[in-house]
Amino acid sequence: MNIILLGPPGAGKGTQAKRLEDSRGMVQLSTGDMLRAAVKAGSEIGRKAKAIMDAGKLVDDETMIGIISDRLDQPDLANGFILDGFPRTVAQAEALDKLLSDKGMKLDAVIEMQVDDAALTARITGRYTCAKCGQGYHDEFQKPEKEGVCDKCGSTEFSRRADDNAETVKSRLEAYHAQTAPILPYYKGKGTLKGVDGMADIDDVTKQIEGILG
Ligand code: ADP
Ligand code: AMP
Repeated sequence: MNIILLGPPGAGKGTQAKRLEDSRGMVQLSTGDMLRAAVKAGSEIGRKAKAIMDAGKLVDDETMIGIISDRLDQPDLANGFILDGFPRTVAQAEALDKLLSDKGMKLDAVIEMQVDDAALTARITGRYTCAKCGQGYHDEFQKPEKEGVCDKCGSTEFSRRADDNAETVKSRLEAYHAQTAPILPYYKGKGTLKGVDGMADIDDVTKQIEGILG
């Protein structure tokens, strides 16, 4: 099954994508993670993207479509994929349709995670991840069972994203409303859009998504 998790930054896309990886063997395709890897590797794309990401703006469509096209050609997607953070503009959504049809692939569902803006800043500024396995945590809402130790891999090293600060969050939310939310009517028109209440607790959101995927 191939799906898109759509929603503002901090909506819980990555959290739910990781659960679907564990439960169904699907693969999370997070364009944010791909760009952060490019920044870390110091590649040309990474050098270009860093300032844009730090400002909470969107990287250009051509670059992002190229990244996703290459990723969709990798041979590890037999159990399906979860697009997380892509598409983020109507032009990306249109390009994705073309890419999928050219590659003989299709989307099974587009799931919008609905969360009030007021909740997002607290979610994002409290977010951290295991530096070794990438498991996500939150200072308040998703603590590891043993403080300072990753539940999943036992590592004691964690990291926080450079752009997870209150100031950048503001621009990221503005970018979401101005550039990404217009994707919703695009998928609604195609009849593929389903909504989940992302304000619910993490287990409840997982149940709602499982209900849609069947
Ligand atoms: P996204 O990938 O959409 O940007 P994340 O999945 O990284 O969002 O979630 C942002 C933060 O909020 C994380 O620290 C995560 O632990 C926490 N979180 C995710 N879903 C929920 C939820 N339903 N309720 C409360 N906190 C959540
Ligand atoms: P995310 O990890 O999804 O929150 O993305 C982090 C940052 O990466 C965003 O604020 C953008 O600067 C950039 N980014 C990620 N995905 C895209 C995309 N599909 N289009 C444009 N910019 C993106």
